[in-house]
Amino acid sequence: MHFASDNTSPVPPQILDALIAANHGYAMPYGTDAIMAEVRTMIREIFEAPEAEVYLVATGSAANALALSVLCPPWATVFCHRNAHIEEDECGAPEFFTGGAKLTLVEGADAKMTPEALRVSIAHAARAGVHNVQRGAVSITNATEQGTVYSAAEVSALADVAADYGLPVHMDGARFANALMRSGASPAEMTWKAGIDILSFGGTKNGCMGVEAVVLFDPAHAWEFELRRKRGGHLFSKHRYLSAQMAAYLKDGLWLKLAARANDAATRLSEGLAAHDSARLLHPTEANAVFAAFPREAHRRAHAAGAQYYLWPMDCSLDGPGDELLSARLVCSWCTTDEEVDALLAIVRGD
Ligand SMILES: *Cc1c(COP(=O)(O)O)cnc(C)c1O
Repeated sequence: MHFASDNTSPVPPQILDALIAANHGYAMPYGTDAIMAEVRTMIREIFEAPEAEVYLVATGSAANALALSVLCPPWATVFCHRNAHIEEDECGAPEFFTGGAKLTLVEGADAKMTPEALRVSIAHAARAGVHNVQRGAVSITNATEQGTVYSAAEVSALADVAADYGLPVHMDGARFANALMRSGASPAEMTWKAGIDILSFGGTKNGCMGVEAVVLFDPAHAWEFELRRKRGGHLFSKHRYLSAQMAAYLKDGLWLKLAARANDAATRLSEGLAAHDSARLLHPTEANAVFAAFPREAHRRAHAAGAQYYLWPMDCSLDGPGDELLSARLVCSWCTTDEEVDALLAIVRGD
């Protein structure tokens, strides 16, 4: 019963086999390997974006911070949700890689910015000319940090607000596949057709060993991106091992199958909890994470049975009144089984 995060999952055999297959003979370094050429072609096809430039890095924080660094100058600000990963979980990497740009936090339920709140924030920024940070970029996370999903139309509505102010738009797609499976949109509809300029395209949370793609739909910033990636220490020397993971991930729609499995497990868990009187969902379950509150005594039983997940906020205590509701974040991955889900549900119900 492992629900701590999707990155606690192992690597699917297709990806590990591809690494082994790539592991013979010589291959040119630093992104000039033959598999990277395949990856570039596949991503251009998947996104219907023949002009797009594609780069690989090993972490999502690097993907986000480098992407933002080409979109936002040091004296400007990135508009993002209050709960965005770039705000809460990247130790200031976006600020560091942009050379000091600020983040301006936008409100909205379920970790989703509303177009109205975004417009208020952007309009409010830079109102005193030289005295303020300037308007820089907008960053949208999909799927969100609270397991919800923006539809392509919702992304487009946010990007329209950005466009009114001439701002570029980044998407943190650490869980892009999960969002896509939920929304039914095509990769193009969810990104450049909706106004996204740069996508951090997640691999690791959805099964890869450690690779994320950065997709620049407008290649204007490509060279600058390459320089910043190298300067930031994120240009892999034995790059074929990043390429091989990404190629296997994309081949035959594996990335979508993995995400579908994770989403289905989360739906099963969410529905099972919702059907139980003492449990309550905190956010709609639209991707692979379930946020739910249930009594402390059920958490104690789950804990005793070895279930792994985070109480949310993380500093809640298992000590205290047994009937008090405590919140949990329960994340499913490509390898979560129905048996694991049902075992946790049985414990929560006290069967
Ligand atoms: C996990 C995650 C990332 C990337 O995190 P790394 O640990 O740097 O790979 C980025 N955005 C979101 C929303 C995430 O959940």
